[in-house]
Amino acid sequence: MFTIMEQQIVHACGHEQVHVIYGFDTQVARKARWLRTTKCRACFVADKKVEQTEAAARDSTTIAHLDLPPLTGSERQVTWAETIRINRLAKLMTSPHTSAEADCDLCLRIYDAKWWIDHRDLSPADFLIQALRHLQIAGMPANGQRSVAA
Ligand SMILES: [Zn+2]
Repeated sequence: MFTIMEQQIVHACGHEQVHVIYGFDTQVARKARWLRTTKCRACFVADKKVEQTEAAARDSTTIAHLDLPPLTGSERQVTWAETIRINRLAKLMTSPHTSAEADCDLCLRIYDAKWWIDHRDLSPADFLIQALRHLQIAGMPANGQRSVAA
């Protein structure tokens, strides 16, 4: 029989939470059993936050030697894009697509916060292709030479 039921589950962390479980009887029983082995929503979110904070700290350490130029955009865009950029650079440092130096050098020449946000989900290969394209469109040669003498 197909059922939809509310069940009070005592989670592995000791907290109780009401869950709406639906499915056939055997599935409901299995789902309830499985839920009891997991943490409650609040603990899950808290764990995730700690993980993210630790990952961000690790990433910042990985790229501590890089000189990050300021990004342009609205305050909200810049804050978000800075997080994305740190994460992306750290990934490229630890597993570079070409070489860590070349990859990061390319990335550090993109100042547009919106660009970072728009391209946050790309694979490293696609990301670098887009980065190269962006810099070419912006009129900056990709070989590391500035088009205008400083
Ligand atoms: Zn809990």
